[in-house]
Order: sequence, then C-alpha cells, then structure tokens
Amino acid sequence: MNVLSSKSFIVSIKKMNEADLLIVYVTEDYGKIVCFANNARKSKKRFLGKLEPAMLTSIKFYEKAGMSLAILYEVDSVEEYKNIRKNINAYMSISKLLEITKALVPEKDKNIMIFNLLRDVYMSLNDAVGNDCGEDIILKHELYFISNFLKHIGIFPNFTACTLCSKKNTDNYFTFSIEKGGAVCSSCAKTLKTIELPISAVKIINLMVNSNTSIISKLNAKEYVLRDCINFLENILSFYAGNSFKSFNLDKRY
Ligand SMILES: [Zn+2]
Repeated sequence: MNVLSSKSFIVSIKKMNEADLLIVYVTEDYGKIVCFANNARKSKKRFLGKLEPAMLTSIKFYEKAGMSLAILYEVDSVEEYKNIRKNINAYMSISKLLEITKALVPEKDKNIMIFNLLRDVYMSLNDAVGNDCGEDIILKHELYFISNFLKHIGIFPNFTACTLCSKKNTDNYFTFSIEKGGAVCSSCAKTLKTIELPISAVKIINLMVNSNTSIISKLNAKEYVLRDCINFLENILSFYAGNSFKSFNLDKRY
C-alpha cells in the first residue's frame, strides 16, 4: 500500500451507497484523480466541512494494486474561498468551470497549469465577490478561466491565420469555424459553416491568455461582449468534448 499526498481541489462529489462518497479531485502532483471516501458521510471527524468545492485541501490517499480508485484517507483544509460559496452567482459560475474540468482533464495526467489556474481564479473571485462586485466581474473570471483552460489543454483557437490554408489573418477580417478550431479565410469559408466574431472579442480572449488575473479588474468590456466571448469558447469546448455541458446555455447561432 502506497500512501500519497497532495494539495487538491474538489471537482465533483457523488453519493455512493448510504454513507460513501466518490470524489473527483484535481491535485497538484498527480493531475485528476478519483477517490473513494469510505463512510465519509458518517465520519464527521475525518471529513466534516472539508469536502466542499471552492476550498484548497491537502489530501492523503492510497492506491491498491488492481484498483482504479484511490482511497481517501485524510483531508486538511489549506485555503477556503468562503465568499464564493456565499454568492450564488459566483458559485454557479464555479460549478460550470468544474464541470468543464471534470469532462476534459485526463485522469492521472499531471497538469500543474490547470491546478494553478483553478487556484488563481478561486483567489481572485473570492476577493472580488467579498467586495460586493457586479455580475460582469464574475463573467470576466469565467472568461479568464475558459480562455486559459483551452490554452492549457491545447485547443485554444487559432486567430492569426486561416486554419485550412494558413493565409495570415492580417486585418482580423476572417470568420471562424468551431469545427476547424479557428479562423478561416473567405475562400475556405465557402465550404464551411462559419460564424462572425467581433475583433473586440478576439482581442479580449487574447488578452486573457497573455496576462495574469490582474487583467480581470482592469478589463473594460460590455457584458454582452463578455457573453459573446464565453459563448464562442463554450462552443469550442462542446465540440471538442463531443457533448453539450449541462451548465452551458449555448447560443443556437453556432
Ligand atoms: Zn483559407
């Protein structure tokens, strides 16, 4: 038996039997793992108040030969993002980000970028909602997360050149193909279903992946532009995942 430990974020929790839980974590050292927490709903001393989303914990778990699930052994709280849990809009937004993470991050494939992205967004959003922010700040956090998530899993859209013929998108006049994952020039667009994406949206998405979270409070953007950006990126995620996410409210134009 090999006892392992790592800092971790809960991605999802599912009840199993009467008292057990199945918990998906993104860990700092082992990527996404699935843990079985035996009798967790009854053993208050070990787990009470420590199995919540929007919380950084240190977990100990072990793996047994021939078993795909890790067994959760001990949990300690490291950082709590309580403001997020108290704000329904922020909490809903985080649930969406976790749904994406659960579906698209491969198991046991260490990706420190995803772990750090979650931590950065939690910390920044927790501060923002603590200061009684508006809905647009929550949307900016969502956009920051999704843009960087696409980058870290390697499906960030190509805005700079035609995805099919490599012609340069010099004046940003190309349309976009969700299916091809980026810009397409006017001649290649003839055979494809494409969408228009305003230049301002392209600029904002690029800004998000080339900055740290301090960009979120500095960014000046209208709410409908933020929603357009998020919708575009969610369509890319859905196409890549091969399914629609429950928390997405996708625009039918795409
Ligand atoms: Zn082309």
